[in-house]
Formats: sequence, C-alpha cells, structure tokens
Amino acid sequence: MNGSGVGSGDPARERDRAFVRIGVLALQGAFREHRAALERSGAVVVEVRRPEHLAGLEGLVIPGGESSTIVKLMRSYGLDAAITAFAAAGNAVWGTCAGAIVVATHLDAHPDQPRLGLIDVAVARNAYGRQVASFEAAVPVVGWDQPFRAVFIRAPRITSIGPGVEVLARHAGDPVAVASGAITATVFHPELGGDDRWHAAFVQRCAAVAQTRGSVAPSA
Ligand code: GLN
Repeated sequence: MNGSGVGSGDPARERDRAFVRIGVLALQGAFREHRAALERSGAVVVEVRRPEHLAGLEGLVIPGGESSTIVKLMRSYGLDAAITAFAAAGNAVWGTCAGAIVVATHLDAHPDQPRLGLIDVAVARNAYGRQVASFEAAVPVVGWDQPFRAVFIRAPRITSIGPGVEVLARHAGDPVAVASGAITATVFHPELGGDDRWHAAFVQRCAAVAQTRGSVAPSA
C-alpha cells in the first residue's frame, strides 16, 4: 500500500484496492479535492499533466474548472488524443462539471469549442442562469438509499441524451449524472461536501476494469 488507502481489514479487498490506479487531470480546476476523495476511497492517485502519466491507470477524472481552458491545455500537451485512446482502450473516464462538458459529444451554443465526445449527450454551458448559478440540492441517485447533496457551480445542463446513455440522477427533471459504458458525467461537484459515495463508486468501476484486464486477482 502507499499508505493513503483506507484499510478495510479484509486482505483480498486491500489487495484489489492497492492495484486500482486512477488519474486526476491536473491542468486546471478542482483536482486536489478529487485526489483526496479518491484516496479516501482507497485508490492510488496520479496527477495527470502529460500523456505518459496515463500509463498503468484504470481510470481518469476530468475535474471542474473552466472547460475552454481545460481543452486548450489538453490540446497543447497532446492529452486530447491520449485521453481518447485511453477511453477507447476500455478505461473508465469521469467528467465532473467542466469535465462533463469536455467529455460530451455536443455543446449547445458553443459548437466550436473542442471536446472529446466520449459520451453521447448534449450540454449547455452555464445554463442554470445567473440567479441560481451556484446552488445545492439533495439529488436522488438510482440504487442509493440516501440522496446526494450536490453542489452546482455554474453547472452545465444536460439538454439531451443519446440511446444507451443511462441516467443515474436527475434534478428538477434534468439528468445531472449519466453513464454509458465506462464513461460517467456529472454536472455537479461531487468532490465538495465530504460525501465520497461517487468517488467510491468510481473506484469500484475502475476495479472492474482492472479485473477484466487481469491486473488484479478477483476477491473471493
Ligand atoms: N462554467 C464552467 C464551464 O463552462 C464549468 C463550471 C465548473 O466546472 N464549476 O466550463
């Protein structure tokens, strides 16, 4: 172990967790909070600033921040092509807030802003309006007993979803968390508020990637 994981006391689970390696794109935005939440959830975390930092990872978080800045920096380091290839290889990618914009296929009103197009959704940047630019809401999540207290900060609105995209959570009728295959997008900031359930779920998703690949022995 690297000393950052939370011990479960179960040796098989400890071994699995020790092998789940997750990157956090650390070009701009709220990456430190994601790092802390993933480490609390048992992952080994790598800050990704260059394509070579993706080697050996099972998952990547693209954090909130300013999506146009994130994509500009991604492009200048060749990370756009590298992350596209990383996703095509079956690794898990989770875009949060600005990161959800980066992974979307369509951007309403900003059709020319570069993006990765990893999940078939259309999003509108800053679409919750000025008065409610930032707010919190208790969001029910599919399969969870307790709602998640979600923090929305100039959040994008998901305006349409393609076939095969699963809605994991809605707020006021709009999808706010979606997934398709190994790609997840959440328009709120799951790293704020001290509830690590989204990060724990992502660690599990990445553990499944690792097991499929045979880099982790399945726990008994
Ligand atoms: N408004 C930002 C954008 O369009 C996203 C805000 C956020 O990540 N909190 O990129």
